[in-house]
Amino acid sequence: MTDRAIYRSRINPEDKEDFLISMAADAVVLHCSDHRFQRSFHEFLTKGLKVGLYALLSIPGGGHFLTMEAMMSKYFRVSLQSLSFHIERNRPRRVIFIGHYDCLFFKEQVQFYFPEPDINQKQFANLRKARIRLQERFPNLVVELYFADATPDGSVQFLKVE
Ligand SMILES: [Zn+2]
Repeated sequence: MTDRAIYRSRINPEDKEDFLISMAADAVVLHCSDHRFQRSFHEFLTKGLKVGLYALLSIPGGGHFLTMEAMMSKYFRVSLQSLSFHIERNRPRRVIFIGHYDCLFFKEQVQFYFPEPDINQKQFANLRKARIRLQERFPNLVVELYFADATPDGSVQFLKVE
């Protein structure tokens, strides 16, 4: 038998009595899919930023794709389609991009286009550029930028990128 249930969630996504679920999404979040950072991202979003329910796009490089229209046009188009879907359907109050240190996608695909000597500074510059690209399509959209940075003790600290 292949259709046997193996787990039952107690969360009902249709529950109209559930205050959180009945509202528009608190946020649409776009961050990298690197497995090393998923738990830190979730902790930061729910505990650091106190975001309730968020729609998530987790793809290699996160928001960096928005500046890659000329270099990776298929990846750009598919990712933009997904992001636009969530923005249009979920009517989020905020859109959140999170970059992170040691981003392999950024190192391998994006960093060469930036003059800043420091790779984190290159990422900040590209995230700002990505925000501008998205706001060209959605003019009044609030897009917050954050960066997961390394610390000497091995923990992750989150910086706000202005
Ligand atoms: Zn990454």
